[in-house]
Amino acid sequence: MLCAGCGAREFWVDGEIFFTRTFALESKSGISGANMERSLILLKPDCLEAGNAGRVISRFEEEGFEIRGARLIQLTDEVLEVHYAHLMELSFYSNIADFMKSRPVLALVLEGENAVARIRELLGPTDSTKAPAGTIRGDMGTSGMKNVCHASDSVDNAAIEVERFFGDGGVV
Ligand code: ADP
Repeated sequence: MLCAGCGAREFWVDGEIFFTRTFALESKSGISGANMERSLILLKPDCLEAGNAGRVISRFEEEGFEIRGARLIQLTDEVLEVHYAHLMELSFYSNIADFMKSRPVLALVLEGENAVARIRELLGPTDSTKAPAGTIRGDMGTSGMKNVCHASDSVDNAAIEVERFFGDGGVV
């Protein structure tokens, strides 16, 4: 018989009642359930300047993603040099860094099934001018650089990026 309150199963040994519970296996990131993932999102300066934060968050919520962390952050050169290390050789890296520092970004941790790949699909390709209508970047982005939103590109990077922006707590 199951306890209605906590789902524990009762059993009897030598006339005494005991309860046991089974728990879903936890992934290495601490998230329960099959294919449950977290992704690190940054709503970029163009998104906040245009007043599109609510619209973008609604898109994520409509797809069933749950907000596990949220924080407004003023990015610095130090953080960007790590976060965008793969871009530092680009001749226009400083333009990207200046854009990302131009006003605070809204960092989110979103959780859901296959979150990393599905959120990247919702965003569309990097260049907003090539992103199809119906994608976040296609609908709200204005250029290759001003493309509304960052989202982690792999499960491993998501863990690193969540630690980068929420390492001191704030993910529940
Ligand atoms: P993504 O954000 O799609 O993962 P990247 O990691 O390659 O793409 O680039 C990080 C960000 O740097 C992009 O989102 C965009 O804002 C900017 N960026 C990258 N490549 C270009 C480019 N060719 N022209 C302008 N901005 C770029």
